[in-house]
Amino acid sequence: MKNLVAPEIWFVTGSQHLYGPAALKQVALNSQHIVAALNEGKTLPLKVVFKPVLTGPDEIRQLCLDANHTAGCAGLVLWMHTFSPSKMWIGGLSSLRKPFLHLHTQFNRDLPWADIDMDFMNLNQAAHGDREAGFIHTRLRLNRKVVVGHWSDGQTLGQLAAWMRAVRGWHDMQGAKFARFGDNMRQVAVTEGDKVAAEAKFGYSVNGYGIGELVKSVGEVSDAAVTALCSEYESRYTVAKELRKGAERHESLRVGARIELGLRAFLEAGDFKGFTTTFEDLVGLQQLPGLAVQRLMADGYGFGAEGDWKTAALLRTVKVIGADLKGGTSFMEDYTYHLNPNGHLVLGAHMLEICESIAAGKPSLEIHPLGIGGKEDPVRLVFDTPPGPAINASLIDLGNRFRLLVHEVDVVAPPQALPKLPVARAVWKNRPDFKTGCAAWIYAGGAHHTAFSQAVTTEHLEDLAEILNLELVVIDNDTTLRSFKQDLRNNELYYHLAPGLGRL
Ligand code: MN
Repeated sequence: MKNLVAPEIWFVTGSQHLYGPAALKQVALNSQHIVAALNEGKTLPLKVVFKPVLTGPDEIRQLCLDANHTAGCAGLVLWMHTFSPSKMWIGGLSSLRKPFLHLHTQFNRDLPWADIDMDFMNLNQAAHGDREAGFIHTRLRLNRKVVVGHWSDGQTLGQLAAWMRAVRGWHDMQGAKFARFGDNMRQVAVTEGDKVAAEAKFGYSVNGYGIGELVKSVGEVSDAAVTALCSEYESRYTVAKELRKGAERHESLRVGARIELGLRAFLEAGDFKGFTTTFEDLVGLQQLPGLAVQRLMADGYGFGAEGDWKTAALLRTVKVIGADLKGGTSFMEDYTYHLNPNGHLVLGAHMLEICESIAAGKPSLEIHPLGIGGKEDPVRLVFDTPPGPAINASLIDLGNRFRLLVHEVDVVAPPQALPKLPVARAVWKNRPDFKTGCAAWIYAGGAHHTAFSQAVTTEHLEDLAEILNLELVVIDNDTTLRSFKQDLRNNELYYHLAPGLGRL
C-alpha cells in the first residue's frame, strides 16, 4: 500500500514505591513478559514496545513528552498493575498528544486460591489500581479506549488490535496531504466544508491545484511507459476486444494509461495520499479519469469525486485501518434502488470510480460512452462485489463540527446479471432494514458519497472517533428511528457545550 508506515505502540506500566524495589523489579519482568507475548502472538498489527515501569510524576511527564515528539510512536497502552496514585499522572497526561488505550488486565490470570498471600496481592492489584487511573482519565476528560480482560484472552486481543488499526489510521492522517484538481461540483453542498477546521482536527491538509498542472504531467508521460502499462492491463484484466493492442479502440486505452501515469507521477512528486477531481473542470484531459482513479485507489490513494475532499481523506484513512485485513475498501455512492416489497436493495456505484480492491473475480476493462463531462469515452474497470458484511461511512461538516456516520450493510449477489450496466457496483441490504436505514441516514445528513469497506468494521471507526473526539453516529441492527432522532438532538446539545467542558 502506498505510503503506509507501521508505527509502534508503547506499553506503559504504572506503579509506585510502596512495595519496595523487589516488587518493582518483578513488575518490570511481568510487563516485559506481557509485551513479548503480545508481539509473539501475531494477532496485533503493530509492534508493542516495553517502557520502564513508572513510579513518579517527573518520569511520567517525561515519558508523555517523549511520546509526543517520537514520530514513530502512534499511541500508548497504559496499565496500572497496582495503585499508581493518579495525581502523579496529571502533568503527563495533560500534555500527552498521542492516543492511549487503558488495558485493564492482570498479570496472573487465575487466583492461586490455596496459596494466595500478600506478595501475590501486591503484584496483582490492577482491580483497584486501574480504577484510580480511570478516575483521573475521566476527571481530565481524556478520550481513550478501555479494554478489559486477561492479556492472553482472544477478545481482549481483538479489541486491542482494532484500536491499533484505528491508531494507525490516525497516525497516517498527521501531516497527510490531499490534492484537489479543480474545486467543488458547482452548487453541491455536502461535499463542501471547512478545510481549516479539518486540518486542525484531523491533521491533514487539503489544497487545490489547477487542472493544467495535471495536464502537463500527463503530457510528459513517455510512449514506452504507456505501452508497458497497456501490457500490464492485458495481463491483469479481461480487456475488451476493441481495446486490445492493434484493435480499433486501442488508442483510447493508451489515453487512459497516459492519464494514469501522469496522475500517479503528480501524486508521487507531491507526496500526496489522495486527491479529488471534478468533471466540470477537465480542460485539456481527453477522458474523465476512470481507470486511473480505480487503480490509484487500489494502491491506497484516497479519492473523492466532484471535489469531495472529506471523502477522499476518509477513504485513505479507512484503507490504512484495513490495510492488513481481508476485504477491500472503495469510494462509493448510493446510486439506485430496488424497491420490491419482497426485498429492498441498494445498488452502489459511481460514474466510473470504484476501487478494484472490492472486485469479486477478475475485472473487465471496457469502454463506454459517458453522458456527462463532455469528453471522449472513458475506459473503466467493471465488476461485481462479493457478498458479506460491509460498512458505508460518511464524514459531513455540520458547521460547528464534523460528524462521522457509519451504516452497517450486507452485500448480496445481484439477483440478476447486469449486462448493460457499464460500471463497477455493489448491491447491498441495509441494516436494520431498508427504510429505517435510509431514513436514519437522511436524518443524520449523511452524504451520497461514502467510504465503503468490507475490511473495516464499526469498532474501528468507533475507536477512531474516540481518538479524534469526533461525533459518531451508527446505523446498525439495533437502530430504531425514534431513539436515533433523539440521539441526534442530544448530540446537538453535547457538541454545542463540549468546548466549555474542555473537549474541542
Ligand atoms: Mn458522485
